[in-house]
Amino acid sequence: MRAYFDHNATTPPAPDVIEAVVGALRDDFGNPSSVHHFGQRAKALLDDARTAAAELIGAEPGDIVFTSGGTEADNMALRGAAEAAEAAGSRRHVIASAIEHEAVLNTVKALVRRGWTSTLLPVDASGIVAPGALAAAMTPQTAIVSVMHANNEIGTIQPIADLAAIAHEHGALFHTDAVQSVAKVPVDVRALGVDLLSLSAHKFNGPKGAGALWIRRGARIVSTMTGGKHERNRRGGTENVPGIAGLGVAARLARAKLPAESTRIAALRDRLEQGVLARVTGTAVNGDLAARVPNTTNISFDGIEAESLLIALDLEGFAVSTGSACSSGTLEPSHVLRAMGLPTHRTQNSIRFSLGLGNTDQQVDALLERLPAVVSKLRTLVRR
Ligand code: PLP
Repeated sequence: MRAYFDHNATTPPAPDVIEAVVGALRDDFGNPSSVHHFGQRAKALLDDARTAAAELIGAEPGDIVFTSGGTEADNMALRGAAEAAEAAGSRRHVIASAIEHEAVLNTVKALVRRGWTSTLLPVDASGIVAPGALAAAMTPQTAIVSVMHANNEIGTIQPIADLAAIAHEHGALFHTDAVQSVAKVPVDVRALGVDLLSLSAHKFNGPKGAGALWIRRGARIVSTMTGGKHERNRRGGTENVPGIAGLGVAARLARAKLPAESTRIAALRDRLEQGVLARVTGTAVNGDLAARVPNTTNISFDGIEAESLLIALDLEGFAVSTGSACSSGTLEPSHVLRAMGLPTHRTQNSIRFSLGLGNTDQQVDALLERLPAVVSKLRTLVRR
């Protein structure tokens, strides 16, 4: 048996998504900017996907800009808002949480290289940003605040509405990277009160290379992908029609099945988590247990190196992760767990199990049956 417990890295595309991508490639190859029939058919696919993406996050279709994924949406948000701030006045300070994805953290570093100052907000032991910490970090120079909705490694959900309100009190724009929350919990741009929100199709059974940035009407950002008049002058370049068509179908599926599927997945995740804690000694869950997306659990295994456990589980047919997909293959400690103040060994002995479409009770049972033996074997090897 093979079981995939790495849905925060990427998800399998749903069958209807595959159909939509193939159909767009085969039948709707026109350029959506073309006036003729072929172009208009492709344009209709974009319009439909824009409506579906907007409905998933409680937004208006006209405020969605399609991108090549979450990384580009984060770049567009931060670099675009920074350029607008530079043109408007003297604000040159950006704030982000210390547990952001590299797409945000490295973009903040890029802004610092061009003369901005930055503050990384601390998180508490459960991975939550305290609104008071943001209030204390705000200065009259702060132009942009970026705090992720849900964390990719531990699944923790941040109090975004409270944080956005604080940013707004000080005249700053608020961006949230919702790549790991969209389709897992209800996401509504108005309830969150944000100005900019990033999402990525391949995290919710859509294709890779398609995502979106939602931009609140009136929020000032400068286009960073200069080119033609695509996406209402907000992102130049002929649109990835097949990918975007797949994103649209994935968004509709996610919206239709969200409450039932998240209940199903939460029950599976809880059984997996409780089963691991009960059967394997020296284990502990990282991150807030309540404010958490339903599909993720991050567990420390005493006396083990996470990478070794990942490889041993892979040999048994179970795909898991040591955290951020981008840093796997290296033995770097997790910046997320480190920011939570966990001791060094726990930043290197933690495994992320992230569930989704296709996971079953049988797969969780199979994992729980094999895991104790795999862990004790590794522990014996380490002790030698
Ligand atoms: N933001 C978060 C929180 C993520 O988990 C990821 C993907 O791992 C990204 C951004 C990047 O998204 P993409 O892979 O679509 O560029």
